[in-house]
Amino acid sequence: MSEKNIMIDAIDVNKEYRRAGAIIRALADVNLKIKSGEFVIIQGPTGCGKSTLLNVLSGLDLPDSGRIIFDGENIARATEDRLSRLRRQKIGFVFQDFNLVNTLTAIENVEAVLWPTVLRQKEIENRGITALRDVNLLARKDHYPVQMSGGEQQRCAIARAIIHRPRVILADEPSGDLDPTSEKEIMDLLTKINKEMETTVIVVTHRDLSKYGTKTIRMDNGRITKIQ
Ligand code: ADP
Ligand code: MG
Repeated sequence: MSEKNIMIDAIDVNKEYRRAGAIIRALADVNLKIKSGEFVIIQGPTGCGKSTLLNVLSGLDLPDSGRIIFDGENIARATEDRLSRLRRQKIGFVFQDFNLVNTLTAIENVEAVLWPTVLRQKEIENRGITALRDVNLLARKDHYPVQMSGGEQQRCAIARAIIHRPRVILADEPSGDLDPTSEKEIMDLLTKINKEMETTVIVVTHRDLSKYGTKTIRMDNGRITKIQ
């Protein structure tokens, strides 16, 4: 059987936390296959293990047991160097609180991703402009985060996440702090990126955003309870 189009394969993944003598099973026997080009919504209540799952899928955190195969590569075996290169090249992260640098303008926040590379300044600028145009935010190019609405800040964060053309976008409650109109805007934008750039998108959320997904995975208490 060909597994060529599997982007992420999580096999029997477990992760526990110990707190005040209690053991919390943040991930309990999680099995998950995500195909290239899918738009996956992972939905579940606060505390069910969504952020922990994204962290282990991207190698930011290691599971206690089980395996994560990311684009054909076993994350558990990779060195920290290799992992950070994999994240830099293949993953774009989007967070609930945007994580923009307040002292940088919109375009600088986006370009900053490329600063450690050997690209010429002009090329970096061109790519920054393209990314901001992709998220329809070019008019705010020289604005600082405080001068933008929440929805605009999140669009800026998405431009930053796509500037290096990642294979996968991992978004942790990307609309958690946004009003319904901005939420729709952000989810429509992620849909457009998924379709036009063929980027695999994984959104974790406590809200019901299943209408946006090609697949919805429900989680509760560290377990996957339903895939539809
Ligand atoms: P979600 O993102 O769905 O809200 P998390 O993955 O953040 O859930 O957390 C899952 C469970 O693990 C929760 O009970 C949380 O309190 C616990 N947890 C998460 N991170 C830690 C940590 N670093 N130390 C102890 N417990 C943690
Ligand atoms: Mg979380």
